[in-house]
Amino acid sequence: MGLYQKCIPDFYYQSIFEIPYQTLNKQGISTLFFDLDNTIISYDEDQLSDSQITFLNELSKSFKLVILSNSGYKRVSNALKDTDFKYVYHSVKPLKTGFRKALKLSKSNPKEVMVIGDQIMTDVLGAHRTGLKVSLIKSVKRKSDRKITQFNRKIEKHVLKKISKKYPKLYQSRLEAYVNDH
Ligand SMILES: [Mg+2]
Repeated sequence: MGLYQKCIPDFYYQSIFEIPYQTLNKQGISTLFFDLDNTIISYDEDQLSDSQITFLNELSKSFKLVILSNSGYKRVSNALKDTDFKYVYHSVKPLKTGFRKALKLSKSNPKEVMVIGDQIMTDVLGAHRTGLKVSLIKSVKRKSDRKITQFNRKIEKHVLKKISKKYPKLYQSRLEAYVNDH
């Protein structure tokens, strides 16, 4: 797989609530790696809300969950402090390091994992580099993106353009809605 192909998600959904989890479960997905920032909470929020915790707790009855974040210990541990979810902080996505830690933590086989995140240059690219499936979602609040993410978004824009030219059909089915939704 070339770089641009690795940046094409397997699926796109408008939020973590739109993902057909029971279907995934039936297809052999046993483990979910969730990005934190702008996937579960925006950068403006410090902690998961009660309803977000309830939603993830419900999911954890059918799946092993790991929160996989590029943010530091303080932000991640504070965001999850009222929960028992496993997490990897400073996960340096798109490098494989954090994904491998999450695989170890969840004792999962790569085939059984679905990564869920809002960034092409970290979540999607990193998942595919590690051989994992990935669902891209619409950012919770794009305006709250941090500087490094704003930088990644510029690269993302360029990559999206390339993909639309090289793989127009895949672009149309998996990325066009993502572009239009932001
Ligand atoms: Mg994110």
